[in-house]
Amino acid sequence: MPDAALVLRPSACPGLLRIVAARDGGICRIKLPGGELSALQAAVIAEVSELHAAGVVELTNRANLQVRGVRSGHETALIAMLVDAGLGPIPEAGAVDASGVLLATSADISDTSRFDAADASNTRSTTAQQAPGSISASAADDVRNVMVSPTAGRDPFALFDTRLLCVELLALLQSEARFAALSPKFALLLDGGERLARLDHPHDVWLAATQAEDGVRFVFGLAGCPPAKANANADADADAGALAAVLPSQVIELVRALLHTFLDLAAPDATRMRHLLATHPLDALLQHAQTYVDFPLSRDTSLANWQRPTPADAALRLGAHAQRVVGMLHVGGQPPLGRLSAATLRSLATLAQQHGNGTLRMTPWQSVLLPDIAADAAPAVLAEMNALGLACDPAQPITHLIACAGSTGCAKSLADTKADALLLADRLPDGVDVHLSGCPRSCAAAHCAPYTLLAAAPGIYDLYRRDSQPGFGSCVAHQLTIEQAADMLDPLAHPARSPSDA
Ligand code: SF4
Repeated sequence: MPDAALVLRPSACPGLLRIVAARDGGICRIKLPGGELSALQAAVIAEVSELHAAGVVELTNRANLQVRGVRSGHETALIAMLVDAGLGPIPEAGAVDASGVLLATSADISDTSRFDAADASNTRSTTAQQAPGSISASAADDVRNVMVSPTAGRDPFALFDTRLLCVELLALLQSEARFAALSPKFALLLDGGERLARLDHPHDVWLAATQAEDGVRFVFGLAGCPPAKANANADADADAGALAAVLPSQVIELVRALLHTFLDLAAPDATRMRHLLATHPLDALLQHAQTYVDFPLSRDTSLANWQRPTPADAALRLGAHAQRVVGMLHVGGQPPLGRLSAATLRSLATLAQQHGNGTLRMTPWQSVLLPDIAADAAPAVLAEMNALGLACDPAQPITHLIACAGSTGCAKSLADTKADALLLADRLPDGVDVHLSGCPRSCAAAHCAPYTLLAAAPGIYDLYRRDSQPGFGSCVAHQLTIEQAADMLDPLAHPARSPSDA
């Protein structure tokens, strides 16, 4: 059988060590373990973006950050500062410090000096030269894709604190040279059962905590999302239940087995788990994975209709909400369309130091959350976030809009999606979520939004509504201006309010 691990897969995705050119300069993506970074690291990112880029930092839909507008000739200095701040991949297999913080210094990242921002296609060129068992820094950076709730460890509804498991999974992904063959988009979801959880992004492997009679188990599935009653995503196999359940202590070995199974069986052009599922029955994959673990692994038919018992509520990312420890809150806000100035990021870092625990959490809704704020300090923190221009109330229309870089940042875009989204914010009907995309690639959304405006020309869009169709759903209108789109969205989203029903 073909072994995908033998095939080096080039990628055009930005990374910390691979700055990809865009219309407004280079993009450097900084992957954050569990979406978390320290206030000191945030301050370094702010400084880096001012010194070596355009002073703009973007939040991504995978709870990472990216520096935009990296200036030509500044790449090596920018990368060195970020790596020295501990924002790089693990330099050696499994290297984490006692508190679980990933360790890296610029001296550890041996291939930084060989970095070539202009050539995204050479990204795996060092992989083949690695010593057996080691993984290149570039590949280690690419594979560290594990999503957890921004309130992991603090959510009063959670069944399991996933933070340590997340660190262990990240170490696993960076520990074996073979995993360098995984696509930079290959991603894992670890769901502890929190109320604040993004469940509509399909993941190659998902695991979700569930309460059994004798303790917590993790159920899992492939190429989809944990099924949940409130999780209506037409893209995801939301009603597929779970395949089986394992003990929390078996999660790492299970994931290792599933990764090896993917690499053993996937054809060279199969980059995601859904591609493997298209050619191999689920039971055959589990049988293959069984050879890598010493606990029983087969499909549990009693989980065929499993659903996540706790409904997720994305609105909890905004405003102040109680944590597990009485008297402590997390406070969150969303910068307009996911962009922060360096000055705003620095101010948020200062807030985290003054009133929180000195850390910030990025969320997959492109928002920021400050954990561990004392209840009596929360109003002041909220006021300061509002003053910084962050939306902290889900009633604010801007919290319902996402847009890709658009024509000011991306040569593929047919419209200035960011500017048009701001126009739409002034006219957006209540509670309607809209995604503006400059082309079908959908960089801003890993999920299918309820409504998508796909650019057709400057200021002109086709409107799609999510349904069972793949991609953005079904096109309901062509060639709309932003004003016309706003007028159409209201009756589409709220048919009971339309004049014909009056
Ligand atoms: S969705 Fe298309 S136009 Fe928008 S940033 Fe991505 S590639 Fe560019």
